[in-house]
Amino acid sequence: MAKGCMKHRLNRMAAISVLVSALFIAAQAVTGPPAVAGAVSKTFRQSIARKLGKAQAGTLSKAEAAALRRELMKLDKDTLDRIARVYGKYIPENSMRAARSVSTRFYSHDAYQAHLKKMYPDMTAAQRKDVTGNTEMLTYVDKNQPLLPRVVAHERLHQLSEFVDTKRKVGMNLHEGMTEFLARRVYGDMSIKGLPIPYPRKTEVVEVLAARVGKERIAKAYFRGGKSFQVLKEDFDEQLGRGAFDAFVEAMKKERYGDAIKIIKRGVLY
Ligand SMILES: [Zn+2]
Repeated sequence: MAKGCMKHRLNRMAAISVLVSALFIAAQAVTGPPAVAGAVSKTFRQSIARKLGKAQAGTLSKAEAAALRRELMKLDKDTLDRIARVYGKYIPENSMRAARSVSTRFYSHDAYQAHLKKMYPDMTAAQRKDVTGNTEMLTYVDKNQPLLPRVVAHERLHQLSEFVDTKRKVGMNLHEGMTEFLARRVYGDMSIKGLPIPYPRKTEVVEVLAARVGKERIAKAYFRGGKSFQVLKEDFDEQLGRGAFDAFVEAMKKERYGDAIKIIKRGVLY
């Protein structure tokens, strides 16, 4: 995501970073994130799932296809409304307005894979396989998946933080963790038993970080960057020692999640 406009041509590294910023489903047990904002109604989800099943089987009528499109649009809009309810006070107005002015693109599984192939030619088929959503100014998702609402929330959050400097400062891993941490609170009870959850390790680190600095600081830094990012960093260093935040970010960039958690808990002088 982040690179967005087409004038920034994607080089190989950028394509890889997009892969990481796109939503991965990692194979790991569900731990049940805290429910904060309530659920999409089950009937509504089932209605979408039923039509998607028919679409795959090739038995979807025209009327049903039209209804499905409307339901997906509604899901997209409801997701933004939810994000606004939970995080509205941290989100700059122009970011929210820009996000509201465009709709998420919902693709069938095959069409989404084709979309990824075209958008990120350097991505291998094996890498593409697990990606269920991505953001390049616009948000794109594979609609054939049980966690659809949360994937929409995740990608919409990326979109809302697209022009904020935080991602560049913290690197992709921590940013994904922050994104999924925030997404969990939009659809808190979306976890379905036995279903893999996205970015479990990265998100776990951010859960620990939230216990240290508070989720407000994280949300502000995520949506606003700049001064709000600085406040998060200074708070962290004040509690854990000078240079602790930089060490934490470095550990995250190197995927040393255990070390990152140690730093949050004990500072750099452990
Ligand atoms: Zn992501």
